[in-house]
Amino acid sequence: MIFILAVLFPSLILSYIGLHSVRQEQIRQESAYLQALEHSLALAASRVESEMEDRLQTILNNLPVYGMMPGGSFVLQLRSVVNYSPLVEEVFLLDRDARILYPRKFPDRQTGWQQLSEQDQYYFSLGVAYEARDMPEEAIRQYRMGLGAAGCDLGTMTLINAIARCHLKLNQYRQARSNFREVINLDRGRFLGGEVPFVLLAYHQLCGIESSMNSPAEALDLRLDFFEFLVNNFQYLQKAQHDFYISGLREQIEAALAGASQEQAGRHKNIIEMKRAAEAERAFRNFFDKYLLSVSGNFLQLSGGDTELNYFRIQAGEHQLLVAMKVSADELRPEGLRGIVLDEEKVISTLFEAAESYAARSGLDVFLFHSEGNFQELSENQENPPVTSAGLGEVQNLLPFFRLGIDSGGGTAFGDIQKRTLALYYSVFAAIIGVTFFGIVFIFRDIYRERQFSQLRSSFISNVSHEIKTPVTTLKVLAGNLAEGLIHKPDRKHIYYRLITREAEKLSYLTENILDFSSVEARQKVYRKEMINLYDLLQEVVRRFYLMHQEKKLVIHKSIPSNHPEVRASAEGIEQAVLNLLDNAVKYSGEEKNIWLSLSHNHNEVTISVMDKGIGIARTERQKVFEKFYRVQHKGQHVPGSGIGLSLVREIAQLHNGRVELESEPGKGSKFSLIIPVNDEKDPADRR
Ligand code: ADP
Repeated sequence: MIFILAVLFPSLILSYIGLHSVRQEQIRQESAYLQALEHSLALAASRVESEMEDRLQTILNNLPVYGMMPGGSFVLQLRSVVNYSPLVEEVFLLDRDARILYPRKFPDRQTGWQQLSEQDQYYFSLGVAYEARDMPEEAIRQYRMGLGAAGCDLGTMTLINAIARCHLKLNQYRQARSNFREVINLDRGRFLGGEVPFVLLAYHQLCGIESSMNSPAEALDLRLDFFEFLVNNFQYLQKAQHDFYISGLREQIEAALAGASQEQAGRHKNIIEMKRAAEAERAFRNFFDKYLLSVSGNFLQLSGGDTELNYFRIQAGEHQLLVAMKVSADELRPEGLRGIVLDEEKVISTLFEAAESYAARSGLDVFLFHSEGNFQELSENQENPPVTSAGLGEVQNLLPFFRLGIDSGGGTAFGDIQKRTLALYYSVFAAIIGVTFFGIVFIFRDIYRERQFSQLRSSFISNVSHEIKTPVTTLKVLAGNLAEGLIHKPDRKHIYYRLITREAEKLSYLTENILDFSSVEARQKVYRKEMINLYDLLQEVVRRFYLMHQEKKLVIHKSIPSNHPEVRASAEGIEQAVLNLLDNAVKYSGEEKNIWLSLSHNHNEVTISVMDKGIGIARTERQKVFEKFYRVQHKGQHVPGSGIGLSLVREIAQLHNGRVELESEPGKGSKFSLIIPVNDEKDPADRR
């Protein structure tokens, strides 16, 4: 039990240590893998972010510089950035004092009659009265008198306009034309006049005059002027007025375009563009005032000259605006802040593309995803998330719900790690189990052998005592009878002496056997070798053996030729071995004890064989009989013996560099052959 515990306990501890270290290894591998993933992810996120940033920087840096070109073309340039940069929905600019440069302010014009001075009113009324009486010349005179004393531009324009009208009535086109031009020049964008400003009337009339007086080309030029004027000032006009004039003009212009010069056609196109730009600008201005003005103004003031690109997401009514702005540190640029309103879809698709192209370049499974949607699902398995995700830095301000993910292999990477560690675990476990198992088996085997051996040893002691006891008892009785004078007759006495010799011989043989065995066991026995004559030796053995077994029906058939070479051997050892073989042959024969002792030799070896017709030995026992203390259990009969005879024979053979061979058949008999080399060069016996 203690042995089992001694093996099991350490193996349990070993298993625990093994398991623990396998688990640690798994954790280490997984965290190293996750770290690597996160590192790649961070790199990917910064690439994607900088891709976005680069694009926006390029757009912002390439905006036309405010004030470097006339207003109209600046706006056109700006609009073309808006139209042709896919990411950009609108652009806005502030100067360093947070005044808006773009989109510009379009003030609403106050309509209705402005007041004429009394004096202007006076002359004007006189002129109008003459006109009513169909006296245009007189009317012109009145108006001119008024002009001389005109108090304000409105009065002047009212009078000049009236003069021109009278010239028209008089078919004096040249004068009318110069009057109308004067009106146009005087107005300077103030749109003076009544419901219909004089400047519009003047342009309108002028167009009619030009087409009747001059070439169509010049008339077209004038119409284009008027068109441009309307476009540039549409914000000051009532929509109906504006549309009325524009539609009339466009018809005429389009009709004239067929014969127009390239320059005129180009100009026409340009004006149309300007019209669109102006409309867009106006629309954006309202929006800008409402949602962006305060944000960008604050940003300009708070940023303290910071030139970094910044991103915002602003709630604008029901919509959200994505805005990027940059404060300018460039002294050459008058604008202090440049900003872009971004197209959300385009921003998303740009980021998608950037993520995809990074994935293609790096070979990593990197992708952009909406974190409110599928991310929850993807990260359900918290322990081994198939997706590790990261934000996109500053760009995250634009798209808070989008994140960059990296696929950890859909769990397969973790699966691989787990497989690897499991394999490691199983090997460690199998090794421990194996070691434990073999340990237990060996311990049991040893315990078993030890037990068997101790059993054999104890039965050996009782067997030996038993064997010795018989001759000792006999000796005691014989010697006792003689000593007490109970035996008188000389021939009886002689028998007694012979018996005593026999028993003494047996005792001597037995004790020699035991002593030799124990010295051989202790590796202390020295068999001294010399050249011996086997013939003589075997004769002596037989004589001694007969002496020990005088009373039995024992016949030893000798086949011992005398012409044998002498061998180098221990006489004592050979005698003991042959005696053992003869003793066994007697013990394991039936009533008839016929034994054949033979000696033969060939060139190298001599063979001493002892053969009997006794009980024989089963095949399975033939090896075991040479083991010390081993005895075959014979059913029903007890043959005295100690189990050391044959093991001693084998030892003696080996000490002579020889061997013992056994042929046997159960029920028929056995033949033991002691074979030793004739000339034993190596000498293990001497070395003992
Ligand atoms: P033991 O003192 O029992 O004879 P040994 O070592 O001489 O011890 O013999 C071992 C066993 O071999 C014996 O117990 C016996 O069963 C068997 N044996 C030995 N010699 C013979 C033989 N000639 N015939 C049959 N069995 C034999």
